Amino acid sequence: MRIVVLGSGISGLSTAAELLRGRHEVIVVSAEPITATTSFLAAAVWFPTAAGPPDRVRDWSETTFRHLAGLAAVGTPGVRMCASLALYRDEPAVPEWSRSVRSFRSAERDELPPGYGFGFRFEVPLVEMPTYLPFLSARVDAAGARRVLRAVRRLDDLADLSPDVVVNCAGLRAAELVADPEVYPIRGQIVRVANPGLSVSIRDEAHPLGRAYVHPRANDCVLGGSLDTGEWDTTPNADLTESILRRCRELAPALAGSAVLGTVVGLRPGRRAVRVELDTTALPGIPVVHNYGHGGSGITIGHGCALESAALVAAL
Ligand SMILES: Cc1cc2nc3c(=O)[nH]c(=O)nc-3n(C[C@H](O)[C@H](O)[C@H](O)COP(=O)(O)OP(=O)(O)OC[C@H]3O[C@@H](n4cnc5c(N)ncnc54)[C@H](O)[C@@H]3O)c2cc1C
Repeated sequence: MRIVVLGSGISGLSTAAELLRGRHEVIVVSAEPITATTSFLAAAVWFPTAAGPPDRVRDWSETTFRHLAGLAAVGTPGVRMCASLALYRDEPAVPEWSRSVRSFRSAERDELPPGYGFGFRFEVPLVEMPTYLPFLSARVDAAGARRVLRAVRRLDDLADLSPDVVVNCAGLRAAELVADPEVYPIRGQIVRVANPGLSVSIRDEAHPLGRAYVHPRANDCVLGGSLDTGEWDTTPNADLTESILRRCRELAPALAGSAVLGTVVGLRPGRRAVRVELDTTALPGIPVVHNYGHGGSGITIGHGCALESAALVAAL
């Protein structure tokens, strides 16, 4: 089959990679280079966030965990397993996600920063997207994909490529492309600072000033964050930057002297339920497989959704 994949973020490239295994002819169409996608700027740590429905997200995230752990084990550029610490002020219940992660245990007292009474230690994949996304993109090209850099206004605009199937991985912009009123932005702001030597990823999902996370990477630390539903503004907010720095210094006091390297804002593709399904009505005579609406979990569930999308294509 000739398959047009719309989108070159994590969803589009992961799906294209799977389709190419099936020896299909794959054309990847995107409005912008991969460096301009939401996927490229994501903190990109495995952790199910703001995506549903819960049972499907659990299956997709477990599949993706195994995939990413496998990539880390063979030294794939930008993918590694990362020691992690989730912090709590009050005694927490054992979280649902604990079954899916590696080496889960309660944190010892001496592993907790001041102000925290409880914590869990575990290991999850951390993906450095500025390294991994170009790697994945090059793999897709090497496997024979054709690339077209073009913005489309409607799915019909893809007709000149004569697709047998279209796979729609347009992220947030799927809202206007297929007139889906259920899609909405979830604004996220992150601050990059110099890494003072941290190696453990730390999070407090219930910090009084808003969620807080510190993800150490090779050349920086990604500090977050925010999940502002319905917000479209991509200009960094200076007060929010200060708040994020304050929260994260509580999680990791070693960050106190770290230079700020930059602040970025991305719009997560929110939807009550991630849409992975076959649609035979969107384009006359051409089946469309949708794969969008991954919220704050595109890296966490991306491979699972790609496998399911490729299976929907294979079943045609
Ligand atoms: C601050 C922040 C932190 C995050 N941290 C994490 C995290 O730690 N873990 C995690 O799992 N997730 C995280 N996410 C969420 C994750 O980034 C998204 O879920 C994911 O990037 C969605 O990927 P996508 O490929 O579906 O969409 P995108 O990356 O947005 O890609 C969409 C693609 O579609 C193309 N496109 C769209 N419309 C058109 C059109 N009309 N014509 C042509 N091309 C079009 C675009 O050019 C682009 O190539 C974070 C997001 C943000 C903003």
